[in-house]
Amino acid sequence: MQKVAFIDADDTLWAVAVRGKRKKKRSVHVGIISECKPPFRLRDEVLIDSSGRCRVYLHPEARNVLRRLKDKGYATVVLSINYKEPVAEAIRAFNLPVDGAIADIDLNKDAVVETAQKVCKPEKIVVVDDMINYFDLPRDVEKYRNLSEVEEMLK
Ligand SMILES: [Mg+2]
Repeated sequence: MQKVAFIDADDTLWAVAVRGKRKKKRSVHVGIISECKPPFRLRDEVLIDSSGRCRVYLHPEARNVLRRLKDKGYATVVLSINYKEPVAEAIRAFNLPVDGAIADIDLNKDAVVETAQKVCKPEKIVVVDDMINYFDLPRDVEKYRNLSEVEEMLK
């Protein structure tokens, strides 16, 4: 079977910035996609949600890395601890070339990867996640902290 790349969403594929409400309008915090309210509109590789308070900044290398993973025979799957809808909507709005997305607010990423390994038996699994060190992934899974590391690996 082919190779699979699991790619995290927040702070890996994109970064989310959320502006405060009313009096706190000027404050901005680093957020998660679940704080955003689809539908999104796209402007210069940035998504703006329907509330206008949430912006999603696509990683500058995201499209390139996703395309190159495909070219090298990987199935690409976004793996995210978030509500499914905003993740799916953001992927659609950015028109990202991915094969699928697995998202749930209480998703166990280790379990998903382990199940994929046991059931699908791919020749190789790659996981890209800014929180990679906090997971308990199987040993033979290749682990990367960001898209730049993946780009290096693909060279
Ligand atoms: Mg993340």
